[in-house]
Amino acid sequence: MNALAETPITADPMVAEQNARDALLQRAQSSSLWIDNVTVSFDGFKALRDLNLLLEPGELRCIIGPNGAGKTTMMDVVTGKTKPDHGQVYMSGMAHELTALSEVEIARRGIGRKFQRPTVFESLTVFENLELACRGRKGALRSLFAKVSPRQAEAINNALVTIGLQELAGLRSGLLSHGQKQWLEIGMLLVQDPKVMLVDEPVAGMTHQEIERTAELLVSLAGERTVVVVEHDMDFVRRIARTVTVLHEGHVLAEGPMDQVQSDPHVIEVYLGGSAHGD
Ligand code: ADP
Ligand code: MG
Repeated sequence: MNALAETPITADPMVAEQNARDALLQRAQSSSLWIDNVTVSFDGFKALRDLNLLLEPGELRCIIGPNGAGKTTMMDVVTGKTKPDHGQVYMSGMAHELTALSEVEIARRGIGRKFQRPTVFESLTVFENLELACRGRKGALRSLFAKVSPRQAEAINNALVTIGLQELAGLRSGLLSHGQKQWLEIGMLLVQDPKVMLVDEPVAGMTHQEIERTAELLVSLAGERTVVVVEHDMDFVRRIARTVTVLHEGHVLAEGPMDQVQSDPHVIEVYLGGSAHGD
């Protein structure tokens, strides 16, 4: 076998591209979430440009990037709130293609999203909020008066332990601290048993202690499910990050371990270029 004879073939850019695509497809088969070449434009402005992002099952991925990088738009596409101009979003290997589904259908497939602003019902107790989340927000009033199934009760209790609020289960949620409300919100996602959790800026406005606790919580949630955290508190990201993806102008600028990403000249340039504060 003449190895040299093969070299010109792989040097062909078209072949190299096809090989890269094949390798990506191979990885996608066992991925948890794959954003494949997604472009989103608003009045001609591209908020996402051929975005590619692949997450392994159980991974904890941090997404960082300056204000306007496309982080929120990326989550909007995954959850079905925004439909891309082109590109696909696959879940659980390539079992589901999400861009063809409605927001409700996508949530049912196991994509959970925690928004930045807590949406707990303050007049209800911690337990009642979890109870409601178990059944989804539709028919909230009706489900309040229906009995939870033993399986749901177990899910609620597990969530209470995970978020560390079991002692406060009977407390009206309005009386919780800001951090505790954020944890309750995470618990409300957990009872729905999502396969992929998207968490937008979880530590904004938290005390130092609450940040520590949130770091532990998010790390503990990965493994069983895939967790994607968008955050611009760099100390926090450094603390929890395994793989970090840096978004810039709707595209992946860098990806890898925090140390590597932080010393990447392109990343440094973007972050020192004046818009380092995220949103
Ligand atoms: P990030 O969350 O990283 O700060 P976004 O995803 O919110 O960035 O926004 C990416 C870009 O797309 C920004 O320039 C923003 O102004 C623009 N954008 C986002 N949503 C809309 C919209 N609904 N209409 C017009 N422009 C939008
Ligand atoms: Mg945003």
